[in-house]
Amino acid sequence: QTAHPIAYNLLCLLTRWMKANTQKIINDQFQISELTNQANIDGLTGLYNRRWLDNALPRMLAQMIDVGQTLCVLIIDVDHFKNYNDLHGHQGGDLALITTSNVLRCHIRSYDFAARIGGEEFMILLPNTVLSDGIGMAERIRIEIEKQHIAQPGASPLPNITVSIGLAVSDSDSSYESLFSAADKQLYLAKQSGRNCVRY
Ligand code: GH3
Ligand code: MG
Ligand code: MG
Repeated sequence: QTAHPIAYNLLCLLTRWMKANTQKIINDQFQISELTNQANIDGLTGLYNRRWLDNALPRMLAQMIDVGQTLCVLIIDVDHFKNYNDLHGHQGGDLALITTSNVLRCHIRSYDFAARIGGEEFMILLPNTVLSDGIGMAERIRIEIEKQHIAQPGASPLPNITVSIGLAVSDSDSSYESLFSAADKQLYLAKQSGRNCVRY
């Protein structure tokens, strides 16, 4: 305030301008991180989506291989879901998908990940997990889903669904593609052997 009034006013203007700009940068950064999060989340179930998986799985696999641990992946596919939609409508089908995703969310450990990778297909990533533990997890999920009634607001629950699960465990040579296709092959075998089962 002892400075020349013009210099003083200029300083005040500059300070206000800097404050406004800093606030704008903070807001923009917040919006960018919100949008990035949304781009990785499936709208119906709130699980991660395929976009997230394509980015996360190769990195997680590389990390596991680096530290000499195994990554176990489960592909979970709802059985006869086309029939379920035909019988109970698309909305009924959506409720079944939401119920399935809730079971997955509740059963995985804090360091596992669940994603919806397509219509009625989900993937679970189990870092640092050996085959026997992966099978245990897959069986628990399968049995829990089989037990669920599909709640409908204001109406009686819909019949339960079942899932088939294909499981694969990484080794030091695994790639994203090889791990994905090994689990997918096992899923195909699970469907062939009557559905509502786990194959590995
Ligand atoms: P399988 O036991 O061999 O897996 O048979 P399926 O009928 O489950 O498999 P199919 O691929 O023939 O049908 C999948 C169905 O999933 C068809 C499609 O209409 C339905 N679907 C895909 N996405 C959605 C969705 O977001 N909501 C609902 N309600 N249905 C969906
Ligand atoms: Mg399918
Ligand atoms: Mg299916």
